[in-house]
Amino acid sequence: MQLLRGPMLALAAHPRVEGLVRKSGFSRGLVRRFIAGEDLDAALGAARRIADQGLTTTLDQLGENVATADEARTAVGSYVEILRRMAAAGLEPNISVKLTMLGLDLGDDVARENMLRILAVAREVAGFVRIDMEGSAYTERTIAITEALHDWFPAEVGTVIQSYLRRSADDVERMIRRNARVRLVKGAYAEPAAVAFQDRREVDAAYDRLSARLLAGGTYPAIATHDPALIRAAKDHAARLGIAPERWEFQMLYGVRRDEQAALKAAGYRVRVYVPYGTQWYPYFTRRIAERPANALFVLRQLVSG
Ligand SMILES: Cc1cc2nc3c(=O)[nH]c(=O)nc-3n(C[C@H](O)[C@H](O)[C@H](O)COP(=O)(O)OP(=O)(O)OC[C@H]3O[C@@H](n4cnc5c(N)ncnc54)[C@H](O)[C@@H]3O)c2cc1C
Repeated sequence: MQLLRGPMLALAAHPRVEGLVRKSGFSRGLVRRFIAGEDLDAALGAARRIADQGLTTTLDQLGENVATADEARTAVGSYVEILRRMAAAGLEPNISVKLTMLGLDLGDDVARENMLRILAVAREVAGFVRIDMEGSAYTERTIAITEALHDWFPAEVGTVIQSYLRRSADDVERMIRRNARVRLVKGAYAEPAAVAFQDRREVDAAYDRLSARLLAGGTYPAIATHDPALIRAAKDHAARLGIAPERWEFQMLYGVRRDEQAALKAAGYRVRVYVPYGTQWYPYFTRRIAERPANALFVLRQLVSG
């Protein structure tokens, strides 16, 4: 699937393909499975239902790569609103943000300043802000900004490390040294061989090594995968190292492997569900489709029959 991801993401980025998928309707099939809704009320409703099952959530208002400072400011306003509304609803305030939505393309200082505003509110409501990791063009800047923010907000901010990147073992050590919280993922973007492993087995082996390292030395790591072998391996590492279930968590995406989410919870593990919502669902949706041939076939069938 790694090999197919590039061409599939490129095809999906074509405006005519996007037009076709959007025309096929938000309410239909797979979009609804992966996206909690188009507004905050729908996302809070989903978070409440998940909380009622004993799981926690992180909310992601979808959107990436804004072009103006005004758009970035609007994003700050909505993230602040999400944190406050989660707190008011009695949910643990936890959001996932993308620096490109907060103005990273306009400059590191723009994204950093905007993050400081969000983190001040996160502190007020005892919440947490995870900086999602985007394509490799942004990796170093995202890590450096996380480090600068972490100096001021050590309890409120953390980021994501992707096991497919060759640099990630060093980045994990950087985060461990400063006790910053890491979410470990395989990585969802199409990346060249110069920066990323292309062979699935290498990505998985790196994931296993990094998860063992984070469990042993990291601060409240999040093991974010749906891969049964890696989930099993993380449980084994934690048991071998004597790491109690309160010191780390599993994370999974909304709509993916709900059975496993419930089973992990029942077995005493912490599980957080990543709940994306909003009108700008298309790029997120295409990354989920590119992850699984069965999903891609389903979308093609919908388009052809629609
Ligand atoms: C909480 C969370 C946050 C994330 N944040 C980021 C981020 O900030 N940056 C980033 O680059 N990536 C992020 N990702 C995505 C991640 O990089 C992977 O692309 C994604 O999780 C799929 O990889 P996997 O580890 O589940 O393993 P895979 O090998 O892709 O999947 C293992 C199994 O999980 C199931 N599965 C996986 N994906 C799907 C799907 N889309 N539909 C149906 N079944 C599926 C299938 O049964 C599959 O066989 C995040 C993932 C999670 C869970």
